Amino acid sequence: MIHLIKKIAFLVVCGISTVLMAQGNQTYWQQHVDYTMDVNMDVETYQYTGSQKLVYTNNSPDVLNRVYYHLYFNAFQPGSDMDIRLQTIKDGDKRMLTEDGKSRISTLTPEEIGYLHAISLTQDGAPVKFTEEGTILVVDLATPIPPNSKTVLEMEFKGQVPLQIRRSGRNSKEGVALSMSQWYPKLSEYDFEGWHPNPYIAREFHGVWGNFDVKLTLDKNYTVGASGYLQNPNEIGHGYQDAGTKVKTKGKTLTWHFKAPMVHDFMWAADPEYVHDVLKMENGPTLHFLYKNDPKLTKNWKDLQPKTAETMRFLSANVGQYPYNQYSVIQGGDGGMEYAMGTLITGDRSFGSLVGVTVHEMAHSWFQHVLATNESKHSWMDEGFTSFISSLCMNQIMDQNKENPFEGSYKGYYALVNSGKEQPQTTHADRYDLNFAYGIAAYSKGSIFLSQLGYVIGQDKLMETLKKYFEDFKFKHPTPNDIKRTAEKVSGMELDWYLTDWTQTTNTIDYAINEVVADGNKTKVILERKGLMPMPLDILVVDGNGNQETYYIPLRMMRGEKDNPYPNLKRTVKEDWSWAKPTYELIIDKPLNQVLGISIDPSQLMADIDRNNNNWQADQ
Ligand SMILES: [Zn+2]
Repeated sequence: MIHLIKKIAFLVVCGISTVLMAQGNQTYWQQHVDYTMDVNMDVETYQYTGSQKLVYTNNSPDVLNRVYYHLYFNAFQPGSDMDIRLQTIKDGDKRMLTEDGKSRISTLTPEEIGYLHAISLTQDGAPVKFTEEGTILVVDLATPIPPNSKTVLEMEFKGQVPLQIRRSGRNSKEGVALSMSQWYPKLSEYDFEGWHPNPYIAREFHGVWGNFDVKLTLDKNYTVGASGYLQNPNEIGHGYQDAGTKVKTKGKTLTWHFKAPMVHDFMWAADPEYVHDVLKMENGPTLHFLYKNDPKLTKNWKDLQPKTAETMRFLSANVGQYPYNQYSVIQGGDGGMEYAMGTLITGDRSFGSLVGVTVHEMAHSWFQHVLATNESKHSWMDEGFTSFISSLCMNQIMDQNKENPFEGSYKGYYALVNSGKEQPQTTHADRYDLNFAYGIAAYSKGSIFLSQLGYVIGQDKLMETLKKYFEDFKFKHPTPNDIKRTAEKVSGMELDWYLTDWTQTTNTIDYAINEVVADGNKTKVILERKGLMPMPLDILVVDGNGNQETYYIPLRMMRGEKDNPYPNLKRTVKEDWSWAKPTYELIIDKPLNQVLGISIDPSQLMADIDRNNNNWQADQ
């Protein structure tokens, strides 16, 4: 009997561990969508109706009893989550506020609000129950979707385009009629963490990879720019037709047919006054530029075109080949926002600002629209990485020649630390107390994640890491651990400490030169780690003859060393420094009277929050 019980217990234990191991070793999966949509837009009332056929493939190991859709336009109604948040956050987005600081959403009339409602919904032909909860549609399925199977969801929907408040809408400040992003019933993503039905409060998105087939019918005088390739250019014209084709149209409307393969969103914009320029890149995609026919815009928008091509080449060379044949820069929206195969940007800007916003949004084609991180949870991975590569790109294509192109990011980060308002980067994008804290954490601190990683593993290894990250995770949903593991594989170093301290805490870096004293015919430097976050140290020593050399103190838990970042200078690799020890004795191979200056991290890529204690100078 005892034997038997023991045997059963043993079997149970084995059974559990087998299940756990199977989960731990599970290979990556992601859901898949195929959308076919047919939409009619009334350009007088800004109301539209549509039908959507969605073939949903459940590649997860789970049975799904529910699905969720995003109905983003419902955010633009008085009393919505977005409205209330705008009324309660201390530093509300100015674009969304009236001159006296009121939420613009709260002032919208019934004709100006946005809405998106499902009228009917079936699953494989059978009606299903659905409930609208603000910006989320909750659908209880009639038939659960088993793993590795498809289901067909068919919806009739109607919408009204809100007055432009944020990202999308009608009649933007610059007079663009329709900026159509976050406009259709969009299935929420289900991934290894479960569902992500985030209400639309302020920002950041996460979508399902798939294919879009979209037909848009609207007034034939409107020119449309969109994600996706136009299927019927010679019926449409508007600058899309083949050279020499005469386009004849009948009736008052045109039906534009677009297909966008392997994307996770679909945007479009339309205006009766768009100029449409096309630039076919040699061995590259075709670039489309759509902007208002306004003499004060023309020169900048023409000059922007070769810069956009240069940006495309820079990003393809430094991160990975742009995988689509088209990219559209479209005047619309309220600033700059990235979408699949294109962007909506405001157009009335200085040339530098116009190039800057285009570079940033185009860089998102890599860091979001190909490497599709869950932005809500890891905004630093799309905004930060985009900011990083944009800084490098701007430095090159605009001949900025900045020694540290990331300087602005460091300044922003130090300002956030000093404000005492910092929250860790693991904070959900909507859950920061202040927009300021979100902005710096996502853009600046996210950019520093990479520029500082370059300091830790070496610049060549950093750029190699980005390329490998792109190759390994394109068309997927990479996570923070994926960029860390990629950097580990490329550098041979252990980097868990870097990911955890930088992104999951508000620990800061502060190293100091405490004391410099004679040590026989050598010099002893007492270094102190004052901040909680550890780092390896590059130390520059200058002697009385102006000779420079460096000392490198690896961090013990990195279990590795980077290549000499200053190949023209002699480098001495010292014994590594373990985190727990607050001080370190660095012996310099020179008598004290020959040492002129000592400096921690001459590159200033290490985000040391107090640089005043990083330098020592001999009394003259
Ligand atoms: Zn961005």
